[in-house]
Amino acid sequence: MIVAKKRFGQNFLKDRAVLDRIIQSMPKSDRKIVEIGPGLGDLTQRLLEHKDVIAFEIDRDLCAHLRRRFAQEIESGRLELVCGDVLEQWHSGSLIDEPYDLVANLPYYVATNIVLKALGDPNCHNILVMLQKEVAQKFAAHPGEREFSSLGVLAQSVGKVAKLFIVKPTSFHPAPKVDSAVLLIAKERNLDDPAFMDFLKVAFAQPRKRLMKNLAVGYGKERIQSIFADLGLQETLRPHEATTSIYHQIHARLKETIDGDQREQEHSDPDPKS
Ligand code: SAM
Repeated sequence: MIVAKKRFGQNFLKDRAVLDRIIQSMPKSDRKIVEIGPGLGDLTQRLLEHKDVIAFEIDRDLCAHLRRRFAQEIESGRLELVCGDVLEQWHSGSLIDEPYDLVANLPYYVATNIVLKALGDPNCHNILVMLQKEVAQKFAAHPGEREFSSLGVLAQSVGKVAKLFIVKPTSFHPAPKVDSAVLLIAKERNLDDPAFMDFLKVAFAQPRKRLMKNLAVGYGKERIQSIFADLGLQETLRPHEATTSIYHQIHARLKETIDGDQREQEHSDPDPKS
């Protein structure tokens, strides 16, 4: 008998109605499915009815179980099972070297990390995942809502985001302590600027403080005041009130002024060799 391991975030989805809803929400495409954490394989089984699947599972005991359960599908090449920590396979930008959609009931302890990796993966086109309800809310929040954070800005920067439905703890075995939610991010572009992520960390460092204050700590008061004035932004704006577009505008201005300062410094520095 397989006993769920807490350290791997194992809560197995046992509710057929929820499995049906995930399958119905799957993106319509010819792309392969990547599943992270197939567990006992109930979602995998349903996915294989529609698409070829590459599944990444960290737990050796579950891998042995999956190899037995899906011996035929593995033999025919419809299922590829990769045993190990998915985050270690993601060292370069792409998890696999062909286009794919991610469909998974994620282990909650690494769910945010996995979604962020997928947002930046050029081969990942759609992300349909179950995660903790509060985390799904953060990714799907709109500017002005209290939950709007750097996660919402990042998700909206790549495409359309929707929290599809809530799943109660009783749908799992063992039951988690919190509600879950299914999140869909339909990517239209990639997140390919690590500097933008660093910028958002500064912007949301103290989420309830003024945005101008947070940014002044990282980039200097005068520079930020002048950018706010140029863009016609109120000094009292809080981080959760600014739109994704405003964040991109501020970041673009910052890059311009920092690059400009660097060029000026290069001109004024005497050439040590001359
Ligand atoms: N998909 C199954 C289901 O819906 O019942 C299991 C979901 S369970 C919430 C999360 C699964 O992710 C577990 O099978 C766990 O062993 C696996 N897992 C946890 N951390 C992982 C990691 N870093 N890489 C790959 N799989 C991981």
